[in-house]
Amino acid sequence: MAEGKKSLNFIEQIIEEDLKNDYKKEDLKFRFPPEPNGYLHIGHASSICLNFGLGEKYDAPVNLRFDDTNPMKEEQEYVDAIKRDVEWLGFKWAKECYASDYFQQLYDWAVEMIKNGDAYVDSQTSEEIAEQKGTPTEPGKMSPYRDRSVEENLELFEKMKNGDTPERGHVLRAKIDMASPNMLMRDPVMYRCLHKSHHRTGSDWKIYPMYDWAHGESDFIESISHSFCTLEFLPHRELYNYFVEKVSKPGEFRPKQREFARRNLSHTIVSKRKLLQLVEKGFVESWDDPRMPTISGLRRRGYTPESIRKFADSIGVGKRENLIDVSHLEFCAREDLNKIAPRVMGVLDPVKLVITNYPEGEEEWLEAENNPEDESAGSRQVPFSRELYIEKEDFKESANRKFFRLSLGKEVRLKNAYIIKGEEVVKDSEGNITEIHCTYDPKSKSGSGTEESMRKVKGTLHWVSVKHALEAEIRLYDRLFSVDEPDGDKEKDYLDFINPESLEVVTGYLEPSLKDAKEQDKVQFQRIGYFCVDRDSTPDKPVFNRTVGLRDSWSKKQ
Ligand code: ATP
Ligand code: MG
Repeated sequence: MAEGKKSLNFIEQIIEEDLKNDYKKEDLKFRFPPEPNGYLHIGHASSICLNFGLGEKYDAPVNLRFDDTNPMKEEQEYVDAIKRDVEWLGFKWAKECYASDYFQQLYDWAVEMIKNGDAYVDSQTSEEIAEQKGTPTEPGKMSPYRDRSVEENLELFEKMKNGDTPERGHVLRAKIDMASPNMLMRDPVMYRCLHKSHHRTGSDWKIYPMYDWAHGESDFIESISHSFCTLEFLPHRELYNYFVEKVSKPGEFRPKQREFARRNLSHTIVSKRKLLQLVEKGFVESWDDPRMPTISGLRRRGYTPESIRKFADSIGVGKRENLIDVSHLEFCAREDLNKIAPRVMGVLDPVKLVITNYPEGEEEWLEAENNPEDESAGSRQVPFSRELYIEKEDFKESANRKFFRLSLGKEVRLKNAYIIKGEEVVKDSEGNITEIHCTYDPKSKSGSGTEESMRKVKGTLHWVSVKHALEAEIRLYDRLFSVDEPDGDKEKDYLDFINPESLEVVTGYLEPSLKDAKEQDKVQFQRIGYFCVDRDSTPDKPVFNRTVGLRDSWSKKQ
């Protein structure tokens, strides 16, 4: 291996090996094959980054193929959402394909198989068929319909296709081997009858191909060189090859299926079916609820495409399943947002601070740097006046030496402004602090170059001028599940582990520069975390989502 070159993952090794043997570079072609039965989640991001990443690396086309063979669960809404998400991640597909575009071809091939004695119509119930499957150590039993004549099979299959048989009356099965040690080879079902309208083919079809019959054939039709899927499909590989063999001619280029480990994320669920339950049962507001591990949820939460790609690349592809801690995803978000998010001030749990020696009615606009990580981000002006909001937790009447915030008799700096000293508190009849009174040192203005401005004080607080504050709804999101593996418990349902405190809504007071913030704008509320403007935001009522705090606070909480 050349020095400085990243070592190849095992998928890349397979490709390199193939290129050394009988594959040409032009043969390489990949696909990402989602079923449009829900929105894409962070697990899919791994598969997307793998396939499209290989496309970029080998300069090879990557198709976006919708595996739309089950009209019971699939919808156009999901197709649209999937396209939006893949694009947003920054990938371009060579062709947009649909398994449903191949229904006629698949049907014609199935007819050929019947003619060749390789498929038959079975008229038993699915329960009967299941009973005859046998066990891995015991061969299955042959169906009494296994030796139907070709003519009878063709006639019945035609009827199934036209919807002239009941939905549960017949299936088409491949005639392979009821004694195969691989259960999937025991006369697998190729077609079932479903009298349900399909989001693309409408009522044209009354039979629908099963996954194993459609997937490899779609890969073959599109000349996919490597068909990557998750490990649970390993036993399907034999059947994949069997069907491709049946439909291809000798010497024709054939796709190969290879498997990699599914990626699971802690404190959440990566299964479209289960995520749909969360939406349907109202545990979350929608598929793009910012607590969802969907790509659209992460986008709305304030994640950048770069942070998701970084996450997927850093966990890489593996041969064994494991659980990735969500704190790693959050780390990737922070790392990217730190570079790009402008710094602003916002107070989320306010208490009023009055600067008693600051002239009443006066205000001044102070220069504030937008991003210390990026000089080109420039600066802005923030208004300062006699009455400010600061965070309640930034003040204690009396505090020990380790409390580097405001207390009576102590000094702190107000960010971008002056040094102040706590003087006294005003309380209501119940003893709650309603105002903190302080004095400021007029010569200590940040950046003014005076001796006083250079004076070191221990703490720096963020603040917002009361008169100028922009009121906003702030949505503080936390993990949706309170345990790391919500579907890892055999006794309990994943819904039993929903974190009841996954959303807290507060009113925040923000500096007025945020008045014109638009949906998806990302900022750092200094000393608090990264936030993003929600799509519910309006000029009258801005709404911000907390993407992630500045530090990992969850491990402390537990
Ligand atoms: P789900 O159970 O969420 O529906 P799926 O595997 O059935 O997942 P598909 O739409 O069939 O979803 O998946 C499209 C591609 O994404 C497949 O190649 C699949 O293997 C891959 N994929 C799905 N989930 C993960 C995951 N958690 N980690 C890695 N790849 C995944
Ligand atoms: Mg699926």
